[in-house]
Amino acid sequence: MSEEMRSFGYLCPECGRTVLAARSVFALEASNAEIECECGKSALRVTFDGAKYHAYVPCGICGETHEAVVPPERMLTGATALGCARTKQFCCFVGPEGVVEKNLRELAVLAEKEKQQKESEGPEVFVDNVIMYEVLSELKDIAARDRGITCACGSGRYGMEIRRSAVDLVCRDCGAKLRIPAATDRDLDDLCCHMRLVIPGKGV
Ligand SMILES: [Zn+2]
Ligand SMILES: [Zn+2]
Ligand SMILES: [Zn+2]
Repeated sequence: MSEEMRSFGYLCPECGRTVLAARSVFALEASNAEIECECGKSALRVTFDGAKYHAYVPCGICGETHEAVVPPERMLTGATALGCARTKQFCCFVGPEGVVEKNLRELAVLAEKEKQQKESEGPEVFVDNVIMYEVLSELKDIAARDRGITCACGSGRYGMEIRRSAVDLVCRDCGAKLRIPAATDRDLDDLCCHMRLVIPGKGV
């Protein structure tokens, strides 16, 4: 009889890589397990207190280490996922290799998306805070002019989306976008030559 294996997967909060490794059920019953990332900066630890397993999971979503208490039947059979205490998303998977691998891949995609989203929010992540501030106040001046910001579709209603190195003007009627770069002195100079701005319009 071949030895029954359990796979463990998590996302390394230090280097962002997925970590996937297997341990035999026999080994898990006999001693503590440690699964380390290739970068050497994080490790998933599993201990058994005689009644329950304790998993210490480095969380690739929030960066903390979470402790999960897992009964043996959940740790040693079927497939299970352990959640991040802060975000309530799953950050660790235990089970057959195929299932763990698939979930881990999805987790990596999700974490990457969240990272990008964070980068496009918060004022602390502008490429240049001063330029962004100047661009926004210039846009305010342009918007204050009569029909200062319009869309080629004829609409005068628009929204503003502030990104890391640009501001998007989005037409509320047709959804067209005009991107105003806001990262360098040059971007600011370019914007200042405009008395008015026209969003290109969709299907115009
Ligand atoms: Zn790592
Ligand atoms: Zn977490
Ligand atoms: Zn429009």
